[in-house]
Amino acid sequence: MPELPEVETTVRGLAAVLQDVRLTSVITRRADLRRAFPVDLGQRMTGARIVTLSRRAKYGLLGTDRGDSMIFHLGMSGRWRIDPEEIGTHDHLVIETDSGQVLSLFDPRRFGSVDLVETALLANFPSFAAMGPEPLGDDFTPAYLRERLKGRASPIKAMLLDQRIVAGLGNIYVCEALNMARISPLRAAGQIGPAKLKPLVAAIKSVLIDAIAAGGSTLRDYARPDGQLGYFAKQWRVYAREGEPCPCGGTVQRTVQSGRSTFWCSACQK
Ligand SMILES: [Zn+2]
Repeated sequence: MPELPEVETTVRGLAAVLQDVRLTSVITRRADLRRAFPVDLGQRMTGARIVTLSRRAKYGLLGTDRGDSMIFHLGMSGRWRIDPEEIGTHDHLVIETDSGQVLSLFDPRRFGSVDLVETALLANFPSFAAMGPEPLGDDFTPAYLRERLKGRASPIKAMLLDQRIVAGLGNIYVCEALNMARISPLRAAGQIGPAKLKPLVAAIKSVLIDAIAAGGSTLRDYARPDGQLGYFAKQWRVYAREGEPCPCGGTVQRTVQSGRSTFWCSACQK
């Protein structure tokens, strides 16, 4: 599943092709992904120039000179293909540019989504309205996290996966960051003191920056937008490594929390 670093990598790849480029054709090849495509997507995007490309949590945003923003989510298996050799049954949205390039949104499982909103009203988009700060943003600080976790008895892992507290963090990066910061995923969030929150925030930023630098991690069929395959899961510290050694010399264990696997090490994570 594409996580925040993959979406960031995708947006950067798309920017190389779409920045300041006019779209000459925008065609949906079926009515829906996870939900319906906007019925006026083709009408509003055809002829528009892309002036901004950005990311919010796991959403990519393409802003046009007409004041619209197309918001995409890659779901479980979505990716953009640039100049694909052929358009197949899983290419659900096809865009042509005045620079002669073709882009397709390829999504075999169709858990992705495409929405179109006025850029001025982006903050009201339902998925963004209650969302917490970006983990790589200046607003995500130890002081902010301390305030949000105060009095919370839920495990820290669950709190970090809560999009209202911090936006866009997924299971892999939460497991990795908690290991790096030496915090047990089972700890009650409100009981973690400032001395631990500082390295935790630093670890979250660090694991994301490293993954973006590596071009995004790959799980199964994720590919960079230019169609280049070959990024395979990097060597995680603990994720998916049950029974293998932790960097501290202890052994990685797996615990199920809220129905999802947590990989961690009880020797160094307290
Ligand atoms: Zn350890």
